[in-house]
Amino acid sequence: MMEDRRNVYLYYKRNSEIEGQLNTIKEFAKNYGFNIVDHYKESNIIVSFGGDGSFLQAVRNTNFRQDCLYVGVATNRPNSLYSDFSLDDKDKIIEAISSEQLEVRKYPVLEVSVDGQSSFLCLNECSIRSGIIKTFVIDVWIDDQHFETFRGDGMLVSTPTGSTAYNKSVNGAVVDPKLPCLQVNELASLNNNKYRTLGSPFILSNERKLRLQIVQDGNDHPIIGIDNEALSIRHVKNIDFKLSEKVIKTVKLKDNSFWDKVKRTFL
Ligand code: NAP
Repeated sequence: MMEDRRNVYLYYKRNSEIEGQLNTIKEFAKNYGFNIVDHYKESNIIVSFGGDGSFLQAVRNTNFRQDCLYVGVATNRPNSLYSDFSLDDKDKIIEAISSEQLEVRKYPVLEVSVDGQSSFLCLNECSIRSGIIKTFVIDVWIDDQHFETFRGDGMLVSTPTGSTAYNKSVNGAVVDPKLPCLQVNELASLNNNKYRTLGSPFILSNERKLRLQIVQDGNDHPIIGIDNEALSIRHVKNIDFKLSEKVIKTVKLKDNSFWDKVKRTFL
């Protein structure tokens, strides 16, 4: 039950300016019966302060908690994709997280597994880029069927909420997070008589699985990014993707649909 959620963990990059502002927020929250906890494992509400980058970090560093509600508070610019509140909205935040009729928004999450061993979750995207000046080659498999052979700078696999991030910069479509799917996009593909790719982004249903197989031709040490972190794995062959059964839960406010957010961020 949402009304039982009372333990709040505040996630922020420590500096004296924000500490001062947060002291007021902490006092305010306590007066409304919330406990500010020191460790995220004790919380059931996680509030991130900063921008979208901070929200991504807050979710990653607290391990994509399924039993928590995540709340994004923008500190230095207008609200963004994941930050629904600004620092001045103290009353609005308290009202939203204490409301009995609280509506929860669920964001799909991508599951990435590298060579069948390590597995990671992403809220925005996983990017695979050549680690050297030369292009590299990737075989793309959909549901165990070979689809295309890519040669170029790299590929992106994005969630719907990640569709407005890196994916958008490479002309991918903006996707409604109510659609559980993942988007595959190219980074500068070579297209000639030898290499041919679809050349446009494509969207896969949550029932599909995708494999990117790095051709082992010497240039098989890509840089793999999960949201805003780089994986330290050096040598990679197969990267498998599917939509996770996990989701990230955030507060759903009135007049703040995904498309309202897209409008305020980009238009
Ligand atoms: P950053 O490189 O410092 O900033 C990336 C920018 O993207 C920031 O302005 C950030 O917003 C914004 N952003 C992040 N997630 C977004 C989303 N889902 N929708 C719309 N905008 C979003 O890195 P960062 O702040 O740590 O964010 C990491 C993300 O940067 C990666 O997940 C990737 O999507 C993106 N990225 C984009 C490019 C590109 O567009 N060429 C290249 C590399 C990475 P805030 O200012 O509110 O934090």
